[in-house]
Amino acid sequence: MRTVADLRKHIALWRKRDERVGLVPTMGALHQGHMALVQAARTECARVVASIFVNPKQFAPTEDLGSYPRREASDLQMLRSASADLVFIPAVDEMYPPDFATLVRVDGLTEGLCGAHRAGHFDGVTTVVTKLLIQALPDIAYFGEKDYQQLTVVRRLVRDLDIPVHITGVPTVREPDGLALSSRNAYLSAEERRIAPNLARVLRSVAGALRQDPNAIAPEVARGSAALQQAGFAVEYLEIREAGTLARISEATASSRVFAAVRLGKTRLIDNMPIGPEA
Ligand code: AMP
Repeated sequence: MRTVADLRKHIALWRKRDERVGLVPTMGALHQGHMALVQAARTECARVVASIFVNPKQFAPTEDLGSYPRREASDLQMLRSASADLVFIPAVDEMYPPDFATLVRVDGLTEGLCGAHRAGHFDGVTTVVTKLLIQALPDIAYFGEKDYQQLTVVRRLVRDLDIPVHITGVPTVREPDGLALSSRNAYLSAEERRIAPNLARVLRSVAGALRQDPNAIAPEVARGSAALQQAGFAVEYLEIREAGTLARISEATASSRVFAAVRLGKTRLIDNMPIGPEA
């Protein structure tokens, strides 16, 4: 479907039959991380809707909107083999007509971590996610823990605006060497791809050390940052935060997470892990 009207028509039919609808919002260039969201939806919902929309509002003018990978044909192929029922691929004008004037913004949660380094990014995310949720009216919407701050912000958004949808977080899917799958991994040169798994390796090591010594946040952040630089990354941030609230903490607990964003050449990579036992 390319229009909101067509999307609504199909989903309304399913809702009338009391079929549970799951929504998986994506920006396309799909990989097995996205497919984990589709599979989670497939197991819980009678109908699975995926959206593909490279949302211009969540890219700053200096960012990679123009070069962001677009692979509609292979995306459709993947969604077909994962038995998605419907794919919504709106044009930019369908989502944002020229006189579009509304912004949805979540304060607080969006200020630190990626929010501090990507001006306007989360306003773009919350605006488009609100639109997609109202357009599709799913019972459940699926978001990846890979973008943990985004997941937390979206949970708050639906709570604050009383949007009647359940938000389900799906664990990060990784390459065998630990690198979190991301559409942006396609930007990496062979040399950068060799370096990239060190991000997950360092986060895992910081999480492990804090599990042993919850008071070692400052030294572990320093050690982790140095290790990332040593590996060849430019570090945007490495921080330990409370998972539910993203609050800064002075002592790690089982519900803390380690978050990082780095640059590797022109590519920005993010990752996060729990301090708790599953790290
Ligand atoms: P994107 O297309 O990058 O906007 O991602 C669409 C959705 O897929 C978001 O909810 C992401 O958090 C999720 N996602 C992206 N990469 C992964 C991954 N490696 N594992 C799990 N979920 C992911």
